[in-house]
Amino acid sequence: MEFRDDIAELMSKCVGCGRCLEVCTSHSHGGCNPLEVMGGKLESAKGCIGCGMCNTVCEFTVPKRVMLYAVCKVNGMSVTQAYRETGYNLPPSDMEDVPAPHYMMGADAQLMPGCLVVSQAPYLEYATERALSLVGAPTERFEGGCCTYAVPFRGLTEEERDALKRKAAEPLKGRKLYTICSGCADEMCLSGIDAEHVIHRLHQDIDRIRELPGIRLRVAIQTGCGQRDQLWKFREVAEACGCEVIDAEQGCCGKLVPRISGELMAERQESMKDADAIVVGCPSCFARYDQYPEGKPVLYITELILLAMGDRSTVGFHRRAVQ
Ligand code: SF4
Ligand code: SF4
Repeated sequence: MEFRDDIAELMSKCVGCGRCLEVCTSHSHGGCNPLEVMGGKLESAKGCIGCGMCNTVCEFTVPKRVMLYAVCKVNGMSVTQAYRETGYNLPPSDMEDVPAPHYMMGADAQLMPGCLVVSQAPYLEYATERALSLVGAPTERFEGGCCTYAVPFRGLTEEERDALKRKAAEPLKGRKLYTICSGCADEMCLSGIDAEHVIHRLHQDIDRIRELPGIRLRVAIQTGCGQRDQLWKFREVAEACGCEVIDAEQGCCGKLVPRISGELMAERQESMKDADAIVVGCPSCFARYDQYPEGKPVLYITELILLAMGDRSTVGFHRRAVQ
C-alpha cells in the first residue's frame, strides 16, 4: 500500500521500541496494533479508538497521526456530504426547544461548538456559553464549522487541513477561541489559532463558581483523552460547584468501535458505580455515556456549573437526567 509522503516520514522515524503497543487501549482489548501499523501494515489500525496513549509514550514520532490516517485510508473514508453541505462533519441535530445561548456581539472571544455538540447535544452550547459568561468571559458564536480533526479528513494533506482551518478562523480576527472539545482546541492551535478548551478559562475564575448556590452530588470525573493532565482543574471546578468528587480510573470511553467500546464503557461504569453522576470534559464521551444502557447520568462540566447556578434547562434533554 502507498503512503503519503508526510505519513511515510513519520513511519520512518519509528524505531520499533514497542512502547506504543504496551499502552495501547485498543490492543489490550484485542483491537489495533500500532507497532504493525508503523511498520507499514495499515490494516492493523482496525479498532484504533484515537485515544492518543501511543503519542504520550513515543519519543521519536507521532503514531496517532499515522493511525488516524490508516483508519481513514483502510476504510476508504473521505470528507462527508454533511461537511460539504453544512461545514460540520456530522448532520445537525433536529432536537427542538433547545435553550439558546446569550451570545454577545463584539465579544473578545468566540465559542466553538464543534461537530459532536451541533449534531448530538446542541444544548451543551447553551450550558457552555452561560458558564463562560459567569466567569466573566462572554462570547460570540464561532461560525467556522469543523476543525478537521475527525477521521474522514485524514485523507487530506496537512497543508489542505491547515488551509481549511485558517479559512474557518478568519472571522475570529485574532480573538480567543474557546472550545467544548479538546480535539477542536488541539487542531486549531496546530494552525496557529489561539484556542483552548473551556476548562482553562473556567478554572481561571473559579472563585465566581464558588459563590454560586451550588449542587450537592457525588460525582466521578472523566476528562476525556485530550484533557487527561487537567484532571485537577476539573476536580477543583466540581468541588467549587459543591460536589464531592470520588476517585475513578481515567480512560477512553471507547468512541464507537464495535465490541471494544462496550468493554471499555463497562470498565468505566464499574469504576464509577458509587457516583451519582459522571462529569466529562469531552462531547464525544458525553454522547457515549449518555447513550450507554443502564449507565450513570452524565453531565458535561459546564452543565454542572449550570446546575450549581440553579438552571436545570439542559438535563431534560439527557436520556437519564441527574436528580
Ligand atoms: S511509534 Fe514510537 S513508541 Fe511506537 S514503536 Fe515506533 S518509536 Fe516506539
Ligand atoms: S490512538 Fe489509542 S487506540 Fe489508537 S493506536 Fe494509539 S493508543 Fe492505540
